[in-house]
Amino acid sequence: MEFYENEPMRYHTTFRTGGPAKYFYKVSSIEDLIKVLDECNDKKIKYTIIGNGSNLLVSDLGYDGAIIQIYDKFDKISVSGNIIKAEAGALLSKIAAVARDNGLTGMEFASGIPGTLGGAVVMNAGAYGGEMQDLIESVDVLSDGMVRRYTCEEMKFGYRKSILTENKGMVVTGATIRLMPADKEEISKRMRELNRQRTLKQPLEYPSAGSTFKRPEGHFAGKLIMDSGLSGYKIGGAMVSPKHCGFVINTGDATSQDIYNLIIEIREKVYRTYGVSLEPEVRIIGDF
Ligand SMILES: Cc1cc2nc3c(=O)[nH]c(=O)nc-3n(C[C@H](O)[C@H](O)[C@H](O)COP(=O)(O)OP(=O)(O)OC[C@H]3O[C@@H](n4cnc5c(N)ncnc54)[C@H](O)[C@@H]3O)c2cc1C
Repeated sequence: MEFYENEPMRYHTTFRTGGPAKYFYKVSSIEDLIKVLDECNDKKIKYTIIGNGSNLLVSDLGYDGAIIQIYDKFDKISVSGNIIKAEAGALLSKIAAVARDNGLTGMEFASGIPGTLGGAVVMNAGAYGGEMQDLIESVDVLSDGMVRRYTCEEMKFGYRKSILTENKGMVVTGATIRLMPADKEEISKRMRELNRQRTLKQPLEYPSAGSTFKRPEGHFAGKLIMDSGLSGYKIGGAMVSPKHCGFVINTGDATSQDIYNLIIEIREKVYRTYGVSLEPEVRIIGDF
């Protein structure tokens, strides 16, 4: 396991912003994880689990506790028939590539989502009509020192949420995904097409956390933001992407506070203009 003190969180978030985590652990096994969690509980240190940090806004003041990262040291993937088992730190892009190479369809929608399996399960990540809940057979969850297997139903998936979204004491350690056999070339073609659409429509050339807001019922966040006249609107280095107004981007020197202030202003303007309350999809960590 790796351990650092005062580790800048801008190295671990796709926004490329965020102050120091007092303690930063990168775990490589369930044993590591149990050890760190026990230590945090014994010493009453608050903690947050992260994956690839692709849906996080961490305060410039940092995090006065332990950030526990489950990422590339905890990312084994195995295939048996139509079933893929993966550890929580495995990137969706990697799992999708393994699925493709084994002639298994179902993961194509997720191949361009830059998160880990753990983060994707917690958020019930989705795109292009697919969601993690469509594939999940079961999820291994560590809680109170024990790993328990949850069925898809027990995970209580909803739009960008699961039973873990508000439950800090539960940690995804791995999951089992059920896919279907299909032609490898067709799977590759679909993945390439979806990734082409992403590159065309999303500001992937700038740091961001993807869609900043959840899709409000009956609307599209990006359209509401654009129609509120906010395309290209900037606070400090944070900007509403003119390419896709649903994305707040870091134009180079944004602070987390710039991004946070922009999120607040967007919400206020959209509410004043359309009476729609936008809820951030991005998870906010630390004090603002
Ligand atoms: C360019 C871009 C495009 C994106 N496109 C999409 C998209 O199409 N669809 C979509 O749904 N999302 C999208 N996202 C957002 C993001 O990639 C997803 O939400 C992803 O699932 C987050 O995974 P992560 O590993 O980065 O999680 P993190 O951002 O590190 O964490 C997200 C949340 O999950 C928790 N968490 C992470 N790992 C675990 C674990 N093992 N156990 C318990 N809790 C955990 C964290 O505490 C946090 O609350 C995009 C982001 C970017 C930057």
